[in-house]
Amino acid sequence: MASSASHSIDWRLNICLMTLNVKNGVPLGGYIIFACPKCRMIRYVREGQKTAKCLKCGCQVKIHPDKILILARAKDAKEAVEMVKALKAKLRR
Ligand SMILES: [Zn+2]
Repeated sequence: MASSASHSIDWRLNICLMTLNVKNGVPLGGYIIFACPKCRMIRYVREGQKTAKCLKCGCQVKIHPDKILILARAKDAKEAVEMVKALKAKLRR
């Protein structure tokens, strides 16, 4: 593994690590931050929820690890909102 990650991929790396945590079975009950597969709008949904309607394009998104890209996880709604904000800011560049 390379020891020096470039700044541009730093946040992607963080997201990868968070995604790994999901796979390692972090306790449930939190929130999942994901991007809509159609319009890529970032939003969050409560862990365990089966579907979520995208607020932007209106598509019904299946909340399943194989169907969506889970960007991050949060332990509560407040943290989820903060993460969505942070991720949107990073992607807007
Ligand atoms: Zn959408």
